[in-house]
Amino acid sequence: MKQYTQQQILDAFRGATRSEVKKVSFPLEFDGVDFDRLEYYGWRDRKIPRRAYVVVEHDDELVALILNRAEAKPSRRTMCAWCRDVELTEEAVMYTARRTGANGRRGDTIGTLICSGFNCSKHARKLPPAYHKGTDLDAIRAEQVAELRRRVGSFVTEVLSTED
Ligand SMILES: [Zn+2]
Repeated sequence: MKQYTQQQILDAFRGATRSEVKKVSFPLEFDGVDFDRLEYYGWRDRKIPRRAYVVVEHDDELVALILNRAEAKPSRRTMCAWCRDVELTEEAVMYTARRTGANGRRGDTIGTLICSGFNCSKHARKLPPAYHKGTDLDAIRAEQVAELRRRVGSFVTEVLSTED
């Protein structure tokens, strides 16, 4: 991703009310975020319980969405649907986003399991635990990163979709 300011991110929210956007709190370490190594940027609101946000470049546009963390925890360790980190190094939790437009006003949401600390980009850059000599590791990593980008993209497409 490119480097973004907090204001650019606030301006990119979709399907959020003005008062919801007003209440967004950025992490204290925001200035140290290396967007260059991120396929999306996600963080938890430090003032609102269970509230989180995700920002992604989508069709050449910056899109920010509000996520709500489900109250119930999955009964067993689950895999993140975005990075599919098989080592389960980070807890995956259910986050839901309200759909934009009329669907959202009707209360429609879309849920997905995501790493609770939004470190998918880091996991996608990890190499497989076992590989043969001569394996093209850069290609594997590039493929994992591309897959992550694709999965996040299809989630955002679904949230923004105006179809039923
Ligand atoms: Zn993940």
